[in-house]
Amino acid sequence: MSPDFIREALRQVRYPGFSRDIISFGLVKDVKCEPGLVTVHIEVATRDPKIPEKIFQDCHAILDPLPDIGTVKVEIEIKDAPAAAGVGGSVGKSSIPGVKRIIAVASGKGGVGKSTVASNLAVALAATGAKVGLCDCDLYGPSVAQMFGIDEKPMANEHDEIIPLEAHGLKLMSMGFLLDDRSPVIVRGPMATRYTQQFLRQVAWGDLDYLVLDLPPGTGDIQLTIVQTVTVDGTIIVTTPQEVALIDARKAVSMFAKVNVPILGLIENMAWFEGDDGKKYFIFGKEGGVREAEYMNVPLLGQIPINIETRERGDSGAPVALVSPAQSKVSAAFHDLAAKIRAKVPVS
Ligand code: ADP
Repeated sequence: MSPDFIREALRQVRYPGFSRDIISFGLVKDVKCEPGLVTVHIEVATRDPKIPEKIFQDCHAILDPLPDIGTVKVEIEIKDAPAAAGVGGSVGKSSIPGVKRIIAVASGKGGVGKSTVASNLAVALAATGAKVGLCDCDLYGPSVAQMFGIDEKPMANEHDEIIPLEAHGLKLMSMGFLLDDRSPVIVRGPMATRYTQQFLRQVAWGDLDYLVLDLPPGTGDIQLTIVQTVTVDGTIIVTTPQEVALIDARKAVSMFAKVNVPILGLIENMAWFEGDDGKKYFIFGKEGGVREAEYMNVPLLGQIPINIETRERGDSGAPVALVSPAQSKVSAAFHDLAAKIRAKVPVS
């Protein structure tokens, strides 16, 4: 009986509610094999007592029947899930030194404007005088490099940490900075997880009031890995008003609730198009996000119209929130969002 053998067996124990196992989540901190006794030490940070209970039972169910194993002792240490924005915490997490608050921007599906919201929120938060960083965590479709017109590669410091790039007063980091446009990323599964974790831990952010994380779209293991690797103070879910997007937004809300990451609220993007005549056209349906927020009992943080300037500025490296709010309704909506986030997740 060896620790490696036990670890391999424990790969069959899934984190409750997710498809990934406790080994790949890094929750198994120590395995000791002595004659007639195997001790497994697990660390979980959660406020839900059912989670350690289930992990405990599942570990025993896998290990106890193994031949010649002797006594199995499963020790589960429940780490205090730090209170974040007044509620909850997430699993097995650690903070980023120097960063006061971490806000994640998520969506159930791609193409709803999650990166647009993350970038413009970061710009608008910086305009309130806060020190802000933006981290694009999308391994498969990084877009922050384009949204901020950056094609430099970041350098490493003497501690082998990546130094973020800077644009418009923000510190920026993106998987896109590390990849070549022409080389499609084909890391999957555990490799993708490890790469993402390493990426999150190895950026020298310095002192920040807010770090905005642009999460990959969807509600899978990679999103869970991110909220498990760093302390997320709150998540904003972006959706468009049509039914297909709302269904996925609902999944995202329930996923973050499951791991105790506070949901700050929903943003309805592409809510309408305002014509030259001042008339609003509800291209993707009217107020789907408003109804969904009510249904899910989460705050509606704002409605962002669809407009050409937003898309053009996103593509050309100068996000629309840089325009004076008096001159752009979309910019005003993002500055309003930033004010709400500052109030909900204050930096002391
Ligand atoms: P996601 O991150 O959800 O995949 P993006 O933020 O990359 O979505 O947005 C997809 C496309 O839609 C981009 O070209 C972006 O400029 C455009 N877009 C997003 N929101 C708006 C908006 N409110 N008005 C106009 N174009 C938008």
